[in-house]
Amino acid sequence: MATISKDIIDRVRETTDIVDIISEYVDLKQKGPNLFGLCPFHNEKTPSFNVNPSKRIFKCFGCGEGGDVIQFKMKIENKNFPTVVKELAEHMGIVWDVAEQGQIAQMLKLHNLAGSFFKRQLEQHSIALDYFSSRGLTDEVIS
Ligand code: ZN
Repeated sequence: MATISKDIIDRVRETTDIVDIISEYVDLKQKGPNLFGLCPFHNEKTPSFNVNPSKRIFKCFGCGEGGDVIQFKMKIENKNFPTVVKELAEHMGIVWDVAEQGQIAQMLKLHNLAGSFFKRQLEQHSIALDYFSSRGLTDEVIS
């Protein structure tokens, strides 16, 4: 099983819209800077479950449950930490697989190598062009 780097976990935390995710389970209503809804973790009739979008956390004043978007998904779907991080990363289009990241890095490297190869070819070509020009040949003849 591939490992998830801390960097990926941070990116998942920073980029996942906690309101968007929690809205799938809780009917949230905006109230000031926060959003409130009926807590999915305990039975209640008045909303004491609130989401703070700027801090990217949720908190229930009724049962005390709280945390970030990853903890919410873990609790509500009864899944472990790596599973939730992977799912959220995939949802956000973040590449979490280290092996896959390596492949992308390799591809970019090859791409850059190819780029510099063609640049070099072009430079050499223009040196040749300058040479012919200096010999008094017109551009027409060269091409
Ligand atoms: Zn609660």
